[in-house]
Amino acid sequence: MILDFSLQELENYVKGLNEPKFRAVQLFEAMMQNKALDEISNLPNAFKQKIEKDYPKYEVVAHLTSKDGTEKVAIKFQDGSIVESVLLKYKYGNTVCVSTQVGCRMGCKFCASTLNGLKRNLTAGEILLQVLFFNRNLGGNLKERKVTNVVLMGCGEPLDNYDNVTKFLKLVSSESGLNISQRNISLSTCGLVPNIKKLADDGFSVTLTISLHAPNDDLRKTIMPIANAYKISEILNACDYYFDKTGRRICFEYSLIEGVNDNDACIKELAQIMRGRSCHVNLIPLNSVKEKSLLGVNRKKAYRIAEDLTKLGISATVRRTMGEDIEGACGQLRNRVGGENA
Ligand code: SAH
Repeated sequence: MILDFSLQELENYVKGLNEPKFRAVQLFEAMMQNKALDEISNLPNAFKQKIEKDYPKYEVVAHLTSKDGTEKVAIKFQDGSIVESVLLKYKYGNTVCVSTQVGCRMGCKFCASTLNGLKRNLTAGEILLQVLFFNRNLGGNLKERKVTNVVLMGCGEPLDNYDNVTKFLKLVSSESGLNISQRNISLSTCGLVPNIKKLADDGFSVTLTISLHAPNDDLRKTIMPIANAYKISEILNACDYYFDKTGRRICFEYSLIEGVNDNDACIKELAQIMRGRSCHVNLIPLNSVKEKSLLGVNRKKAYRIAEDLTKLGISATVRRTMGEDIEGACGQLRNRVGGENA
């Protein structure tokens, strides 16, 4: 699929078709506006026929709008895989939350994305398409971009799909494309330590968000299998490394699960391990997932915990829940198979 290609790669592609180089720019610009092939007026039909098999094709099989304005789409790719993406409208701009894999193999006990395991990685173009879809739907074009921020917080573990995800980061921040700066992109990971370091070494500077959810390894192992592979201390070292290289403050996500990680001892321990770091803690009252038995704390308790952390010297806020009524909130995205969209 040619949406996976950088402009340079597209130039090689059109050259291979014995077409002039300027066709690459025409194609790139058309794709960045999410145009269908028959909507592109400046390309000859003979050329369109040549590229038809490689041009991005997808179908929107569901498009829901929440009462708070959040939108969720389910996009079906040619192999039948369906991924969900969310548009969150804030005062300062529009954020698209993209999925990076069809399903997920991390197995977190509280998350819907992992229910059917991992089906496959998404390609760079398939991740980009999710942003392009919403940008066009909001009336954006190449001159006027409507999507201002991107979060890699949908279905999948971004650092488990490193090559495609980093290629996506380059495409979405490309000056000739949507030109979304890395400062406006957040990548969330359950903590694949070697790839956190690699991201810094490869020169990326997106906001790194760590799904921590527990202040010690023993508790973390009971809710997140990845804790058996990497210790919290190793994750924190990798975060320090990332901060040193990029200067970007790290964000830690802590989903509050009733009776599991919400007691005073846990919160004190959390403050202890965060102390002295340039970081921010984002508390998320666990959103319900019908197949999972864990419960979230109420928002009042979440605000009290945020206050406790602040008193202990740790910057902390409670994340607004958006799109819960359309199962578009954190941890509620899943890979649906055809017909299972209700
Ligand atoms: N795999 C990546 C990207 C997913 S981001 C990661 O783990 O970071 C989605 C965020 O929502 C993560 O912090 C995830 O741990 C959190 N989350 C998952 N299930 C949730 C739920 N039911 N309620 C609230 N947050 C949840």
